[in-house]
Amino acid sequence: MGKETLQQREERIRLHWQAEHVFEKSIENRKNRDSFVFYEGPPTANGLPHVGHALGRTVKDVVARYKTMQGFLVERKAGWDTHGLPVELGVEKQLAISGKQEIEAYGIEPFVQKCRESVFTYEKIWRSFTEQLGYWVDMDEPYVTLDNRYIESVWHILSKVHQDNLLYKGHRVSPYCPSCQTSLSSHEVAQGYKDVKDLSATVKFQCVDSNEIFLGWTTTPWTLPANVVLAMNPSLTYVKARLDGDIFIVAKSLALTVLGENATIVSEHKGTEFEGVAYKPPFDYVSVEHGHIVVMADYVTETSGTGVVHIAPAHGEDDYQTVKLNDLSFINIVDLQGCYTNEITDLAGRFVKDCDVDIIKLLAAKDLLFHKEKYDHSYPHCWRCDSPLLYYATDSWFIQMSALKEQLLANNATVTWYPDHIKEGRFGKFLENVVDWNISRNRYWGTPLNVWICTACGHEEAPESVAALEKLAQQPLPEDLHKPYIDNVLCHCPKCHETMQRTPEVIDVWFDSGSMPFAQHHYPFEQEEFQQQFPADVVIEGIDQTRGFFYSLLAVSALYKGQAPYKNVLSLGHVLDEHGQKMSKSKGNALDPIDLMNIYGADALRWALLVDSSPWNPKRFSTKIVQEAKSKLLDTLENTFNFYQLYTSIDQFIFDASQKGTPTLLDEWIMSRLHTTIAKVTISMDDYQFTQGCREIAKLMDDVSNWYVRRSRQRFWASGFSDDKRAAFNTLHTVLSEVCKLLAPFTPFIAEHIYMQMHNNASVHLQDYPAVTEAYINVVLEKEMATIVQIVELGRSIRNAKNLKVKQPLAEIIICSPENLSKYNTIIQDELNIKKVQWLYSTEAFVEKTLKLNFKTAGAAFGMQVNAVKSYVETMPVEEKNSLLCNGHLTVQLADEAVKLEQSHLLIESVVKDDYVLAEDGTLQVLLYTHLTKDLIAEGYVRDFIRYIQDQRKKLNYPIEQYIYLTIACSSEQQEMLQQFEALLRANILVMDIQFERALNNSSAFNYMFAQEELHFSMKLI
Ligand SMILES: [Zn+2]
Ligand SMILES: [Zn+2]
Repeated sequence: MGKETLQQREERIRLHWQAEHVFEKSIENRKNRDSFVFYEGPPTANGLPHVGHALGRTVKDVVARYKTMQGFLVERKAGWDTHGLPVELGVEKQLAISGKQEIEAYGIEPFVQKCRESVFTYEKIWRSFTEQLGYWVDMDEPYVTLDNRYIESVWHILSKVHQDNLLYKGHRVSPYCPSCQTSLSSHEVAQGYKDVKDLSATVKFQCVDSNEIFLGWTTTPWTLPANVVLAMNPSLTYVKARLDGDIFIVAKSLALTVLGENATIVSEHKGTEFEGVAYKPPFDYVSVEHGHIVVMADYVTETSGTGVVHIAPAHGEDDYQTVKLNDLSFINIVDLQGCYTNEITDLAGRFVKDCDVDIIKLLAAKDLLFHKEKYDHSYPHCWRCDSPLLYYATDSWFIQMSALKEQLLANNATVTWYPDHIKEGRFGKFLENVVDWNISRNRYWGTPLNVWICTACGHEEAPESVAALEKLAQQPLPEDLHKPYIDNVLCHCPKCHETMQRTPEVIDVWFDSGSMPFAQHHYPFEQEEFQQQFPADVVIEGIDQTRGFFYSLLAVSALYKGQAPYKNVLSLGHVLDEHGQKMSKSKGNALDPIDLMNIYGADALRWALLVDSSPWNPKRFSTKIVQEAKSKLLDTLENTFNFYQLYTSIDQFIFDASQKGTPTLLDEWIMSRLHTTIAKVTISMDDYQFTQGCREIAKLMDDVSNWYVRRSRQRFWASGFSDDKRAAFNTLHTVLSEVCKLLAPFTPFIAEHIYMQMHNNASVHLQDYPAVTEAYINVVLEKEMATIVQIVELGRSIRNAKNLKVKQPLAEIIICSPENLSKYNTIIQDELNIKKVQWLYSTEAFVEKTLKLNFKTAGAAFGMQVNAVKSYVETMPVEEKNSLLCNGHLTVQLADEAVKLEQSHLLIESVVKDDYVLAEDGTLQVLLYTHLTKDLIAEGYVRDFIRYIQDQRKKLNYPIEQYIYLTIACSSEQQEMLQQFEALLRANILVMDIQFERALNNSSAFNYMFAQEELHFSMKLI
């Protein structure tokens, strides 16, 4: 059997979880424990998962697994967002049709069926992605927004909103895509601005009762046939001005710009003076019952145009409000595809945005065009299909969220946000400016709005359940509550007994997802599960959900229950590429999370997403980070485990908690590090500080591998089964087991892989998270060991700088430190391959200070005496030198007089004694004595030779616990050296017998350069 690949291993563990129902057991185990409530935001099923999804799902899984291991019951119901325009557009593409007319020609019923099917093809991709990532969520019983039971719950909520008089039908002007034939949210509009050239027009509006002419200005000439009124600012000053025999009316401050120098002012007027003045509209395609007069509006400014604004109520929110406020007529001359209606005889059927030039020509022909101009501006386009958007008045159903503003703010005040600035910032500001929620969509695939309206008396009913609808219905209900079936259900009006018809709209998908706390459990038709699962302890999604899922949850719960649906919200930053650019398929810088998992494994991807940078901020991400996560953490853990497995199997060690052996300082130290880490990780994780938690575990793992195991090698290696060895095995077993538990939420595959092997196939995911035992924590020991590591690093840096291989033993290290840590001497000796350790409080004895006169300062101080002082300093006795350095001054007796010598008169140089090399870090100083004796050199040769033999054994696949015979053919000098260190040889290579020969008659013998001279040797297993 070949070695299992990483992918095979993760696959095997996945299948094991499935076969053994480990996920189900992890929940079953906690049946009677407190619930930790977690809501899964449903992914929109309109595309492939990207790295951002991998981040979201990783964080969700880490939280849920951690809380489960902490003893909570964490139900995890998956959800699928299945409705909405993206699904419809996907199907339109698939059918190669576009627009509502073509959908209706194709047939709404088959179209809706296609939508339903397409949702489930995406579900499969998401399911396999979710499983591969190791995200445990119940995908067998997910909530699905298209489900009749889900729809029924949403209806119940809408019914309450209707009952509370918060659901109303309004005529509103919204950005509208004529190609997608639906309005867009302000968030969508913001995604599609483009710079374009358009035409503006200054148009003559002739007064009815005089020859005076209002000059009105517009940037959308195509709206002129829909003109209803002109608006002027009541508090601005206007003028009547004569130009070429005509009298024009414009704002005073704009008169010069608009009319030029040749105009003469006739009179000045307040805006209010024009209120109600009637004018002739430029076009008369449509008759306007109430309109074509001047009205007052504060939003009219004198910053551009003429101070007189043309108003077309169907195409601007201000326009619409102005007409409504003044009780004037509403007209609309544009159809749902963005084309002129038949009433506009000259341009009927043409896309309005293309008709600006035609309109201007028509105006010119009637002599109603005063001026036209091309101008550049940024105009919104549809982010989906690129069509220019129109502002368009449509009938929509609104929920009066503005009435709930105070409650939304109060509910948000009860929530803890991560990162916390979102609470008052991005989210709080959004709530401060909350507007009514347009929840209706004139489309086909969505939750049908459950409002029936009487065709005779206008009475509305919003049935709260399928049963309530059945009572009102004139015929049996369809099996499927979607359009088009539901539209065939007619009801009896309880007021006038005439027929009621359903309003044709479907609802905004965000209302679907915002209803999930209730609808996922078919509440209130089923009660029990909901009661245990509301509100959520935590909701976790990307920051782009601030105005999406996070808001819709808060809004629906406020409407329905009057309280916040969650206690904590984790808002994750965007995942960017390594240069901080947004990832996008078109730019080619998007990483595919499935590819990354196929190469580096799910554990590496998960770890990389959390350890590298905090998930709250925009995250720079790259393949390199995943690669590093694998090599730094996962490979280290695996190598450590392999080491443990190899040596324990040789000794047939069986873990027994009661047989602790004789623990050493190292054992105590790593146990202390373990428990300190448990404490820190728990604090971090309870506050959702994942990156901090990961880094603590990584630090511990580094200590285990690069210090504990490294420093304990000889103990594992020792022959026989001493108490020391038992202590080492026991400690490593405990530490590895606990590390697996610590890592289980983060890297669930490798944690399981190792834990199962150490614990008779038991699953790590069914264990409790490690708890701190204070008794193990020894702060002093950890601090001291950190100093020892620092000393070793200084020693290594000297070896590197002086090119002294670690295999070359050195005679002595001298350590100057505020505290004497000589109990760790063996560790330092072994690690640095040094014979002797000396602890001193000062390096004085090894550092010579040479003093020279600084002529700059000394010359001024001593004048003529300076040369005498100079020669005195050069031959100064050591005691005087020390006294000077210690006190900072010294009085010296020269031939003629005594002078006071100050430290500032001298240049002081430190020179380390010959063969000593100094390295320092903070209060630590380390001196390595690098002089090599003949014996040290010989030992170096032998150690190199041992290393070579070990390598060859490995290449020959000799089992490491097997003894060998070694035959060496060498010179007598070489033999002498080898025999001098025979004990060292035997301690390291398990040799039964060493034979020395003068020549070797063996073709498989090895050649080796030993002490600059070749020798030959052969090995044989016994
Ligand atoms: Zn569009
Ligand atoms: Zn009625």
